[in-house]
Amino acid sequence: MIDFNNSKNAFGDKSDFDLNRAFFLFQTLNYPTISKFLTVILKVILSLRIPIDFLIKLTIFKQFCGGETISDSRKTIDKLWKSSIGTILDYSAEGQENEDDFKNVFDETLKVLDIAKDNPKIPFVVFKLTGLIKFNILKKLSKKQELNEKENATLIRFNKRLDIICKKAKKINKPIFIDAEESWIQNGIDSIVFSLMKQFNKEKVLIFNTVQMYRHDRLSYLMDLSQIAQKEDFKIGLKIVRGAYHQKEIERALEKGYKIPVHEKKSNTDKDFNNALKFCIENINHISICSGTHNIESSMYLLKLMQEKLIKNNDDRIYSSQLLGMSDNISYNLSNENYNVSKYVPYGPVKKVIPYLIRRAEENRSISGQMGRELKNILEEKRRRKAS
Ligand SMILES: Cc1cc2nc3c(=O)[nH]c(=O)nc-3n(C[C@H](O)[C@H](O)[C@H](O)COP(=O)(O)OP(=O)(O)OC[C@H]3O[C@@H](n4cnc5c(N)ncnc54)[C@H](O)[C@@H]3O)c2cc1C
Repeated sequence: MIDFNNSKNAFGDKSDFDLNRAFFLFQTLNYPTISKFLTVILKVILSLRIPIDFLIKLTIFKQFCGGETISDSRKTIDKLWKSSIGTILDYSAEGQENEDDFKNVFDETLKVLDIAKDNPKIPFVVFKLTGLIKFNILKKLSKKQELNEKENATLIRFNKRLDIICKKAKKINKPIFIDAEESWIQNGIDSIVFSLMKQFNKEKVLIFNTVQMYRHDRLSYLMDLSQIAQKEDFKIGLKIVRGAYHQKEIERALEKGYKIPVHEKKSNTDKDFNNALKFCIENINHISICSGTHNIESSMYLLKLMQEKLIKNNDDRIYSSQLLGMSDNISYNLSNENYNVSKYVPYGPVKKVIPYLIRRAEENRSISGQMGRELKNILEEKRRRKAS
């Protein structure tokens, strides 16, 4: 079995300077008061447009992002690939609300497809549907509400762009991940991605939806999807994650008075995540997966399931993926054993990436254990280097 505590593998390509910067950052984020203060500062910078990009760039941005552009990110892409880890370039412009922004994300996605062509360093392309269409339209689609004339025109433009992206991805044979977002727009996202899977996943998997296993209903969702796909003769691609909006989901449900859609006990999310892995591996002939997690137990469990089914380590239907700057002990130790691994590498102008960075800081504060996990790994490597 893999030793996820092997810090020499995990940090082999990090200089002492890199390691100390990560240590300083994670230690800072580990103090709830400081971390909360930092989050507030980032939000203020975002709303007031204060020009201290350089400071963010040297610290939190450097840890979690590839650069401001694709070409800035090349160094990271090459470095990861030296350890056989693929890059999933994630143009992290969030909260897009106008036509220029959507066109910008569309153009950027096409650029990523261009550099992904014939490039094993970039195994997937990813985007959020809210990068291409208004949140409110997805919300209306989720509630099956009628769109007005202007919204319909926007939807037509969006569908055309999506079609261009998917056809280009098909032409160059590069699968696409579509991220999962807040539950009140996810029905809309699911039905759009369902149509794409039906259209593009006939012979092999091109389109991947994302399932957030902190939701009560996702196991039954994926079992139903599996049945439909078999009946209608298409394949399924799924990125399996726990979910990034836990607190927000609870707060909104309480505020609006509907049933909380997510588990409230972490152990139930963990159970559903592992059951989703199990179900997908049992149905691996028509479901391809990417296990998007920093959780060691789930990562171990996936390997166990693969072993039991005699699936080889680098079977191209199974990927593991982590976010840049996090859980290198999982990514590097898996790739060292020839498993398929990739990292999400967010990039974009500092201001646009700030919401992503805020989520990282908040997530790291709210997840009991994640900060401790990162710090423990870094400390272990610092100790090992000192001793050797
Ligand atoms: C490659 C990759 C892609 C991702 N894509 C997406 C995406 O498209 N959409 C998205 O929403 N997220 C996405 N995420 C983020 C992901 O959903 C998690 O937030 C993050 O990975 C932390 O979860 P974990 O599995 O690493 O494990 P852990 O650190 O073990 O678990 C933390 C997670 O458990 C859940 N949790 C925490 N407390 C509780 C509680 N009290 N009760 C129930 N559940 C709880 C939350 O989901 C929390 O994020 C992605 C992550 C990765 C690595």
